[in-house]
Amino acid sequence: MSRLNIINYPDRRLYTIAKPVAEVDARIRKLVADMAETMYAAPGIGLAATQVDVHEQVIVIDTSETRSDLRVFINPQILKAEGSSVHEEGCLSVPGIYDRITRAERITVSALNTEGETFTLDADDLLAVCIQHEIDHLKGKVFVDYLSPLKQARIKNKLKKHLRETM
Ligand code: ZN
Repeated sequence: MSRLNIINYPDRRLYTIAKPVAEVDARIRKLVADMAETMYAAPGIGLAATQVDVHEQVIVIDTSETRSDLRVFINPQILKAEGSSVHEEGCLSVPGIYDRITRAERITVSALNTEGETFTLDADDLLAVCIQHEIDHLKGKVFVDYLSPLKQARIKNKLKKHLRETM
């Protein structure tokens, strides 16, 4: 396994639309293992392949307190979305920035697992938020895109300044 570099907002590569995975093979399983290692090391609760500059539909998530419940979604599709709830979100690609985002409260998602088998999952609360956030990445969308233009401009300036200071 190896740790991957995470792209930071407002890098244009975060706006790439990911392609479906054609075959769940050893290459994809290695990508999943590397993404999981990268997510745990960060540390974060979710990571989309887009964030490590791989533009295929792969997501890893672990919202458990014990960091022992890795969930993998390949070619995820939201089949059903109900209700709405507001959570404070952050993102490994937008370090230090948190804001309140409205999303569906409950979702039903289908995806492939690392064996290439289809599964369906009902999710609510933090897991539902996290799945929606990560699927957005695969569509080339970052959570700050939901904020006002003024807030987005402030975040861009802050992160550019941060980038200069750490270089
Ligand atoms: Zn994110």
